[in-house]
Amino acid sequence: MFNYIIVGAGLAGAVMAERIADELDERVLVIERRNHISGNCYDERDENGIIIHKYGPHIFHTDYREVFEYLSRFTEWREYQHRVLGSIDGRLVPLPFNLTSMRELLPESLSRRLEEKLLEKHPHGARVHILELMEEDDPDLRFLADYIYRKVFLNYTMKQWGLKPEEIDPEVTGRVPVVLSNDDRYFQDTYQAVPLRGYTGMIGRMLDHPNIKLMLNTSHDEVLELRDGSIFVMGSEFRGKLVFTGKIDELFNYRYGELPYRSLDFRFEAHDMEWFQEAATINYPNNYDYTRITEFKHLHPVRSERTVIVKEYPCSHVRGENEACYPIFTEETREMYRRYLELAADYDNLVLVGRLAEYRYYDMDDIVKRSLEVFRERIL
Ligand code: UDP
Repeated sequence: MFNYIIVGAGLAGAVMAERIADELDERVLVIERRNHISGNCYDERDENGIIIHKYGPHIFHTDYREVFEYLSRFTEWREYQHRVLGSIDGRLVPLPFNLTSMRELLPESLSRRLEEKLLEKHPHGARVHILELMEEDDPDLRFLADYIYRKVFLNYTMKQWGLKPEEIDPEVTGRVPVVLSNDDRYFQDTYQAVPLRGYTGMIGRMLDHPNIKLMLNTSHDEVLELRDGSIFVMGSEFRGKLVFTGKIDELFNYRYGELPYRSLDFRFEAHDMEWFQEAATINYPNNYDYTRITEFKHLHPVRSERTVIVKEYPCSHVRGENEACYPIFTEETREMYRRYLELAADYDNLVLVGRLAEYRYYDMDDIVKRSLEVFRERIL
């Protein structure tokens, strides 16, 4: 018998399972609908030895030492600092847009003047939100803000979300600020790395514990049911704790409607060449139907005459057809989520954690941090 059941073998589920199994020394049953662990971090080596991220590029970065140290128990790392170029007017410039991008795209005298004005207002190295920059009174700075908005954010966001930057949660566009320095890294966190043998290797080690029993190809509704404040497992009342990391609306049979998500169609291509592009990721805000191309060999170098890339085509999430990738925040969806949370509150032994269960745009490190907190607050 198990006192703990976890639905989902992604990062959130794996952290919760590992903590319960190791720190509490309790047995845990993990059920996972897919035929693999690791959720959307899932990666695998292809026939050329190249590690491919099946659900798009996942780059680990964090300022939380505790998260980095915790994960380091399960993996060695390859230190890796992600660099992204944007194809703007046919030129490749650093993204996030920084002082180098400005110098490469605008005439020299203009960019010198803009740089001076920017640095009068903000300290060197500041990370400014594009929508904040658009509020500037100075006509030169407004010109610059409008230029970056049109060249970097508008069309990319229209493709990615089907909405304009000002129509989506500012936190989302704030992930990619305007950077007032020449630092051309995508992230500036203290710890930046990829697991040496991939995320699946790392998460596999977390789940490889004598107290953990993993069942793949098993949907939660084959095993358990929520009814009138009680959880039933195979027909009997379950008095242990259920940690659910799947979609909260699905758990409650979409009673208040579906929480919407954006999805991506990942199209992989193998090419007979050593390298396809000069950076790990190139964004195409204004051209093509995909948003970006990532070449995996940059993340995990391997000697091969071939290379593999992925193009990301944004689309709506359709249940059963594609994956739920990004929550779409509006007043309405936040309200719907709150109503689902009220339903969940009737179940004392139900614990919700992760991107889908909490309907949050979490990064991987946020998920680990959150799961460790939830373990301490709700399980210990
Ligand atoms: N974004 C953009 N242009 C870019 C890169 C990002 O407009 O070249 C916006 C877009 O709205 C995107 C958001 O910033 O959804 C966050 O981008 P990020 O690269 O963090 O997205 P993720 O890697 O999580 O898909």
